[in-house]
Amino acid sequence: MSECRAAVITAHNQPLEIQRVPIPDLDPGSLLVRMEASTLCGTDIHRWHGPLPKGDSLPIITGHEPCGRIEEISGNRTDIMGNPVKPGDRIVWSYVACGSCYYCSVARQPCICPGRASWGHNRADQPPYLLGSCAEYMYVPPESLIIKVPDEVSSQSAAASACAYRTIMHGFDNLGAVKSHETVLIQGSGPLGNFAAAVARDHGAKQVLVIGAPAARLEVSKRMGADEVLDLEAVPDPGDRREWVLQSTGGRGADIVIQVATNQAVPEGLTMLREGGRYVDIGAGGKASIPVESLPKEMTYLTIRSAEPRHWLQAIDFLATRRDRFPFEDMISKTYALDDINDAMDAMAGFKVVKAAIEFA
Ligand SMILES: [Zn+2]
Ligand SMILES: [Zn+2]
Repeated sequence: MSECRAAVITAHNQPLEIQRVPIPDLDPGSLLVRMEASTLCGTDIHRWHGPLPKGDSLPIITGHEPCGRIEEISGNRTDIMGNPVKPGDRIVWSYVACGSCYYCSVARQPCICPGRASWGHNRADQPPYLLGSCAEYMYVPPESLIIKVPDEVSSQSAAASACAYRTIMHGFDNLGAVKSHETVLIQGSGPLGNFAAAVARDHGAKQVLVIGAPAARLEVSKRMGADEVLDLEAVPDPGDRREWVLQSTGGRGADIVIQVATNQAVPEGLTMLREGGRYVDIGAGGKASIPVESLPKEMTYLTIRSAEPRHWLQAIDFLATRRDRFPFEDMISKTYALDDINDAMDAMAGFKVVKAAIEFA
């Protein structure tokens, strides 16, 4: 075995190609993982449609939400809890920060480390080749922290924890306590928004509101803990949407607003936040500007980028321990074979699914 099959972006906006990509030799501490599932994320679609702001160098293996079984380990490794891992274990694994720059060592904010390594945007024709999740195998660098996936968590849900869900855990971590009298409003009903609804409900919010679209996604929002949902397509006027929030919050606005849609949702979201409230800005893409004088007084504005290794663990733990409370499997709308990657990408691009998953035979 020296090669495996992978879904490769060779040109922006063109169909992905299934190519044979080399399997690298393992350096000390690294692992080779045989993929079980890879879920797709909006960022995969943005990257496919055109270079992201930082630019991408093609060809790349798409995908950054992997779950797989250890095929081979070079040396002895433990998981994030200190337990040994062995071939056959089902795992997810963290991104890597350099550990020695100002952001890693002094500020302790590794998500903004300039030397950070992440997946789904690396050249497929340069070692270690296998750093995208839509491939039969992935290479796990020695510095990645390993999180074992308990039997009760599906590979698809575990894969989704590797980007969408752990980012939400990071958001709630930075937000701090959600108090029992607080209303949490979520802008967006995709995988992040619906997972955020579940976490807000679990963390004790009095009321969870979701504004999103289309209606099928909002049905999932309700099952994931939302008390009330508002369909953007049915209520196109932002003034009417604000009124809906004010009516549910005694005319004040939400105590906490979590934006998981796009930057363009931020100005509207701020009109729905009460004075002194907390705004958590997660969704990227698009442009918006905010007049400073319009900001709610005494508000807190948090922006979230990616996640730290503990957030991968928190997401997996949440999936395992709250599985009787929330139907996490409803978040994955459809499963595809690797050969059908273009159908999966099209379904995500057209918002026809909450989340598409690639499953490996
Ligand atoms: Zn992502
Ligand atoms: Zn660093």
